[in-house]
Amino acid sequence: MKQRTIQQPVESIGIGLHKGLPVTLRLEPLEDDMGIVFYRKDKAVSIELNKDFVVDTQMATVIGKNGVVVSTIEHLMSAISAFGIDNLRIVIDNDEVPIMDGSSISFCLLLKQAKIRTLQKPKKFLKIKSNVEVKHDGKYARVLPSDDIVFDFKINFNHPAIGEQHLVYNFSTQSYIEQIAKARTFGFLKEIQYLRSQGLALGGSLDNAIVLDDKKILNDNLRYDDEFVRHKILDAMGDMRLLGYNFIGRYEASASGHYLNHLLTKKIFSSDAHYEIVEFVDEVKEFEFAYGY
Ligand SMILES: [Zn+2]
Repeated sequence: MKQRTIQQPVESIGIGLHKGLPVTLRLEPLEDDMGIVFYRKDKAVSIELNKDFVVDTQMATVIGKNGVVVSTIEHLMSAISAFGIDNLRIVIDNDEVPIMDGSSISFCLLLKQAKIRTLQKPKKFLKIKSNVEVKHDGKYARVLPSDDIVFDFKINFNHPAIGEQHLVYNFSTQSYIEQIAKARTFGFLKEIQYLRSQGLALGGSLDNAIVLDDKKILNDNLRYDDEFVRHKILDAMGDMRLLGYNFIGRYEASASGHYLNHLLTKKIFSSDAHYEIVEFVDEVKEFEFAYGY
């Protein structure tokens, strides 16, 4: 399987979740081995996608360099991961990736519109070689060796509209678009009110998040019965793309979020025994198949 970029530049406009300001997002092709690079047009600063540039994981995954940040990258990164894109320039003119509808479906449609271009060099994958686990506060995230790409996520919220949800998801681009990409982010009214008092979540609304009060969902309907756990898988796929490669292995988590996912990526890189970088040159094209749509 070869590296991928897009055929032509594409552009979209949305608002940032936290500041509520308009943002223009433009995706541009890059050549072999150039990686995923964010470019803050308003500051003329480039930030390569790299776990070492993660500067905050509290509300969203944020990368930054010399005080210039790009916030809420996880949904866009999830779509980029699902389409197997290796090289891409992401140009934005503000400090947040637009929230769109709170899921990654708009980014998937944008990548479809741009069309995939296959490059010359072999695509590199990060393959998990041994179990790696991080834990915090009764939550965990871990990876295990596997020849497949699997995300196994459990959540248990003490809330009548969420409760316990568990999904084992076998990745392919097509199944991602159908089963994961439309799952929206969610938040609790109480927390949103607090965030607003702190000048955050100013762009948040029922148009870009599932919002819950103490008893129920305030939106008209859900897109999947278990939309909450599906969104956690969407996030995890975006966060795991911070490894710098598409990943091969089994990811398992209970109640994990951006913070634990980030600790997990750092721990994976803490020893060569945890992973290897692999290419599929003449072998069965099973991963090429998974990345078709
Ligand atoms: Zn999310």
